[in-house]
Amino acid sequence: MNTNEHGSLEGAPFLKDKTPGLAEPAGSVALGQSCERSAKQVYELLNAIKPYQDWREAAHRIKQYALANLDKLLVELERNLAAKGVEVIYAADAAEANRLVIEIAKKHNVKNVVKGKTMVSEEMELNHKLAAVGIRALETDLGEYLVQLADQRPTHIVTPALHLSAEDVGRLFADKLGEPYTAEHRALTDIARRHLREEYLKADLGISGVNFAVADTGSLVIVENEGNGGLSISVPPVHVALMGIEKIIPRIDYLPVFLNLLGRSGTGQKLTTYTHVIHGPAPGRKMYLIIIDNGRTRMLADPHTRSALSCIRCGACLNRCPVYRRVGGWAYGWVYPGPIGSIITPQMVGLDKAAKLPFASSLCGACAEICPVKIDIPHQLVYLRKRGANERSSVNSWIERLMWKSWAWAMGGSWRFRLAALALRIGTPLAKFLPWKPWYLGAWARGRELPKAPGPAFRKTWKER
Ligand code: SF4
Repeated sequence: MNTNEHGSLEGAPFLKDKTPGLAEPAGSVALGQSCERSAKQVYELLNAIKPYQDWREAAHRIKQYALANLDKLLVELERNLAAKGVEVIYAADAAEANRLVIEIAKKHNVKNVVKGKTMVSEEMELNHKLAAVGIRALETDLGEYLVQLADQRPTHIVTPALHLSAEDVGRLFADKLGEPYTAEHRALTDIARRHLREEYLKADLGISGVNFAVADTGSLVIVENEGNGGLSISVPPVHVALMGIEKIIPRIDYLPVFLNLLGRSGTGQKLTTYTHVIHGPAPGRKMYLIIIDNGRTRMLADPHTRSALSCIRCGACLNRCPVYRRVGGWAYGWVYPGPIGSIITPQMVGLDKAAKLPFASSLCGACAEICPVKIDIPHQLVYLRKRGANERSSVNSWIERLMWKSWAWAMGGSWRFRLAALALRIGTPLAKFLPWKPWYLGAWARGRELPKAPGPAFRKTWKER
């Protein structure tokens, strides 16, 4: 959870008044177009492949197996990695994971860190924690680098700077790096490359995420498109890999199905440009793996939402989601946006802090249709809505409870129903004379008028005829 102006660390206040993305209609149009382009490209590519549905089914089953056997597979992974000289450490939560990274950094006298893309480190707010103890951490994935320079948060789990135009990037480089302004893509890439190259050479520690951890061979698989991930893990003398407990797959034979699905579903590529399969530290180097829970076992314990842990973070559901396309990633208030974020976040930060997120969906099912591991996203959203309504939470405010209780009372008998209908009939036309919009209707009431009461009541018409 970040601490800049776009980050609410208190959870996910979806549709809060000043949520960036909602407040900038032009930005949301550009975002929507970009997502649509990406989704179309992915859809066409996937539908051209005959075994695509078989791959999805296989990936779904493998992940279900892995989640059902997580305890054994983690022990197997740890044993195999330890045999190759990797130090494997478990962290119960983000705070413990941060403490471990800082301990490792201090042990190796680290002053400069280069980071490949890792969503887990976003959960940990690792950059801020390292900065607090005087260690400089630099993002090397281009999108992450841009949002770090801009002091923002990623808007997308795969393309973090989706909201920035080439002009924005040109201005950012001029402002933060003192480079002459340009909006030319090639020139911008060259500037970023030139600045980042120097950083790899002076870094004492490289941090990466893990896309897949293979239990039977003790291998960590990292995929990326820019080469920055490979440089971050191979140039500095120490490498710390961070992974959530759910990243495990049982066997190396299963890897191709995931590699086939991840690139295609995420960015419409047949294969991500670089696939690093790491079997241990290079001679003379040190490597650590920190396996992080941070709320995942809570999700695992709930059979209704367990399968959300199968997510391979391809981002396809975000690109397809009509809500995400309009509001962008910041509106979700935490690390994981879009349909999958609306399932993960409430369970990680607590339903009481993010109970509105499961409602950030039209339940159209486009997310489930494209998900490469067949997560039943809409059903899980409905389940979390129900939990949110039954547990005391921000959704379940006293005014809402009062409204539902009144509704239940009105529906409890014919004379009550008639009385309520009469009250509405009289009250609705009068509502427009109110000098203020009812505050509890919030953003919904702005720009909308209450509907006019329709003609004579049905019962009256029935009686007359
Ligand atoms: S839920 Fe499915 S579609 Fe969405 S990011 Fe995860 S794997 Fe991709």
